[in-house]
Amino acid sequence: MIQKKICMLGSFAVGKTSLVRRFVHSMFTDKYLTTVGVKIDTKKIVYGDKEISLLLWDLYGEDEFQRVQISYLRGSSGLLLVADGTRPETVDKAIELRDKTVASLGNIPYLLLMNKCDLAPQWEVSPERLRQLGQSGWKILHTSAKTGEGVEQSFLSITAMMLGGSAK
Ligand code: GDP
Ligand code: MG
Repeated sequence: MIQKKICMLGSFAVGKTSLVRRFVHSMFTDKYLTTVGVKIDTKKIVYGDKEISLLLWDLYGEDEFQRVQISYLRGSSGLLLVADGTRPETVDKAIELRDKTVASLGNIPYLLLMNKCDLAPQWEVSPERLRQLGQSGWKILHTSAKTGEGVEQSFLSITAMMLGGSAK
């Protein structure tokens, strides 16, 4: 069985925990968790003719990157960088986190998830900004942990990117 570690990264309250919960447990809650620590969820998926066990690493609580240790990132095969469309500064944070992670781990596949697309009318991140990011090489998907939109596809996409380069 192939195992792949995926790290959830992004500003506080962008929806990292909610996306994992939606994907793994098909659930969404408005409850806010404030304890600090790491939670690892696993989910088995079938990709082509392979069965893959995804290990989803998520930080709880005040998860600013300052607290993200190399031990959290080490061994990751992919990153899901999450931003909140209603908070433009969370896109800057995602870029910063990508840069810091690549600096310590080297180039690994990553995806930008623009979360809370159920709130699209309130988004303050402009389509132009996203278009420019796309042109500079970012792969971007829109998600809602609340409705489930794009969630399954995001995890499948990062899996495809992780498996793409290796025959493992
Ligand atoms: P984290 O700090 O990045 O793990 O964020 P959480 O998953 O704890 O979510 C922060 C808050 O945003 C919670 O109140 C969630 O219910 C809410 N939230 C997360 N994802 C979505 C979404 O897709 N749509 C909406 N409307 N709210 C969301
Ligand atoms: Mg969280």
